Amino acid sequence: MLDCAIIGGGPAGLTAGLYTTRGGLAKVSMFEKGMPGGQITQSSEIENYPGVTGDISGMDLMMPWPEQCQKFGLKHEMAEVVAITKNAEGNFIITLGDGTTHEALSVIVCTGSTPRRAGFIGEDEFFGRGVSTCATCDGFFYKGKEVVVIGGGDTALEEALHLAKICSKVYLVHRRDTFRAAPNTIKRVEATDNIELVLNASPQEVYGDKMGVTGITVVMNDGGTRNIEVPGVFTFVGNDVNNGVLKQEDGSFLCDVNAQGEVIVTLSMATSTPGLYAAGDIRIEAPKQVVSAAGDGAVAALQVIAYVDEKLHV
Ligand code: FAD
Ligand code: NAP
Repeated sequence: MLDCAIIGGGPAGLTAGLYTTRGGLAKVSMFEKGMPGGQITQSSEIENYPGVTGDISGMDLMMPWPEQCQKFGLKHEMAEVVAITKNAEGNFIITLGDGTTHEALSVIVCTGSTPRRAGFIGEDEFFGRGVSTCATCDGFFYKGKEVVVIGGGDTALEEALHLAKICSKVYLVHRRDTFRAAPNTIKRVEATDNIELVLNASPQEVYGDKMGVTGITVVMNDGGTRNIEVPGVFTFVGNDVNNGVLKQEDGSFLCDVNAQGEVIVTLSMATSTPGLYAAGDIRIEAPKQVVSAAGDGAVAALQVIAYVDEKLHV
């Protein structure tokens, strides 16, 4: 029986792992389906993590976190969790993709979020063949070429800046004429010579041939259309929370979620189900920052230590 199962190994999960193990829990496993580090490892640059100065990528930032946790006894299981249920004794059953199960006194869900599809024609057909959601991963393929970036949030603008250093030109396509991104980021984009703003424009169709994308058609808000001939289209149009592990057989969720599927938590990261906590991007009102995800993980871990202690001593 595990004291705590942590689902997801991004900033929230790794910090939960550090605090639970260092706080005295002996049997803690973190289930992560890929490499630990989470979505920030896709970011080419992070400049708002406290105490970190200079040019640092998301991958660089996250590299030492797993080792630090393992030093205090966190067990990392590289496995996808497909479901979390609660049994008659009030313990949690964690079911993995290969059908094996683990029992745990408590669970911290830190499964984060996943890039959303923008919904234009050809997006799925050309995904991985010219359509991408990761500039750090795929930007280099377009060295010296022109690309399109879609979106008006922090991710789109930051990744447009990154791509502008590699590519000859970046067309930033956004459906309105104002951005959601931080003012400083907007200023940097506006001051970058090889970024052309294509505002009041929505993606309609990506087209290409068997080699991949050759261009995109965008529809302007006034009804006109424009073809932009590029081999690469990067979409950054927001994220959906990864709450599938909380789905029960009858379609309900193991704990309360809001209309967007985000897990409803208290300030202690407690969900409506005793012993189940949620931390990071998956929770309601998440600021969607590495620092806040890590903070959530620490808060949840401290609650779990008290919860497990009470469970074991009654
Ligand atoms: P995630 O980082 O999403 O980690 C969740 C983990 O859970 C993943 O590793 C995933 O593989 C795993 N997982 C999911 N489902 C399962 C499952 N069923 N079984 C096992 N494992 C599972 N924030 C900043 O503060 N500053 C920035 O500059 C910044 N830039 C960003 C740039 C980009 C391109 C992106 C995409 C995000 C950026 N963010 C930034 C946001 C930041 O990355 C997130 O807020 C943060 O990573 C959330 O951490 P998390 O631990 O909640 O979730
Ligand atoms: P976001 O803030 O939700 O922005 C998504 C953008 O995509 C919006 O501009 C939206 O347009 C546009 N969009 C949505 N659906 C679209 C569609 N179907 N077609 C075309 N455009 C579409 O998402 P994000 O930029 O990924 O950021 C997510 C969260 O992470 C935010 O809270 C953000 O602050 C945070 N984050 C922070 C940092 C940082 O701190 N440095 C970096 C990255 C992300 P509208 O504006 O018209 O809605």
